[in-house]
Amino acid sequence: MVMVKAYGYGLGPLGLSQFLEKNEVDYLGVANILEGVEIRKSGVQLPIMVMKPELKSFDLILKHQLSPVLFSIHSLLAYIKAIEEQNQTNQEFVVNLKIDTGMHRLGFHEEEIEKVIFLIKKHPNIKIESIFSHLAATDEPQHDDFTRTQIDLFEKLSTKITSQFTYQITRHLLNSNGIVRFPEAQYDMVRLGIGLFGFVTDKEIESQLKNTISLKTKIAQILTIKENETIGYGRNGITSRNTKIATVPLGYADGFSRKLGNGNWVMKINGKPAPTIGNVCMDMTMIDVSDINCNEDDVAVVFDTKEDILKMANQLDTIPYEVLTSISPRVKREFTED
Ligand SMILES: *Cc1c(COP(=O)(O)O)cnc(C)c1O
Repeated sequence: MVMVKAYGYGLGPLGLSQFLEKNEVDYLGVANILEGVEIRKSGVQLPIMVMKPELKSFDLILKHQLSPVLFSIHSLLAYIKAIEEQNQTNQEFVVNLKIDTGMHRLGFHEEEIEKVIFLIKKHPNIKIESIFSHLAATDEPQHDDFTRTQIDLFEKLSTKITSQFTYQITRHLLNSNGIVRFPEAQYDMVRLGIGLFGFVTDKEIESQLKNTISLKTKIAQILTIKENETIGYGRNGITSRNTKIATVPLGYADGFSRKLGNGNWVMKINGKPAPTIGNVCMDMTMIDVSDINCNEDDVAVVFDTKEDILKMANQLDTIPYEVLTSISPRVKREFTED
């Protein structure tokens, strides 16, 4: 399974999902129903697991053949009600059961398992497609003992369910860092996310993974500004010399954080460094290109290596996930294949 939630980790869910389908991925995962509906409407036929289906919108799950995750008795009963309203006794309705083994976010608990089995057996047109759980700290060796307790609990609780049904039920547990660090817990499927884009915490493995993403913009205008003038809102960028600035149409509303203004990020133009100057605007940013031979319409690279993305994450006091998922939908996505 590849997780394509959060606008496909910022890459654009449709292009990414179509690419994955073409490359024979078995399953897609999203966070909410609308993400799943969009992908389904784009023609993707793969099963799509929806991790947190809005209970009131189970009709959309059924209409678009999405696979809901049920994680509480409340959600299971809501789903049962939704399928009873369909009044299709000979149709099969798939579900994925999420078990809480220590993440403490969503999931059934040990004492609820009996009731889950009872309710599902009572409705034979409900089919358990998969049972899964999520590990809280696969990236941090200091928590490995805890991770192993999660794995053991998953083994115990998932077996308790699978042993009650005669058909095959897929089990899955690992996210990207889990895939790298706990191969013994692969079960039947894994859920790849950030690793697809080259990021895992194991530095040796990470160095073997290629970068897949770059963010680029183009110079809209170049201006030459005298010494001691100010650039942009709030007059925060002060020129200390005759300065050539370039304005690029990428602002905080595109996901280029305001924290990256005033020299806190350096774009690259023709391979040369172009630091931001002044505050980042909503739709635009000014960069200092005094020492660069460049023209309007030239490309300014925001990032095009994994090191850049990690550096930006560091600069913003966050992780690559947030850098990628912050890129807003209005930024045009282009997919290329080597
Ligand atoms: C997002 C998510 C993943 C993927 O996580 P990565 O760390 O990006 O690999 C896997 N499983 C669940 C339940 C998730 O929410």
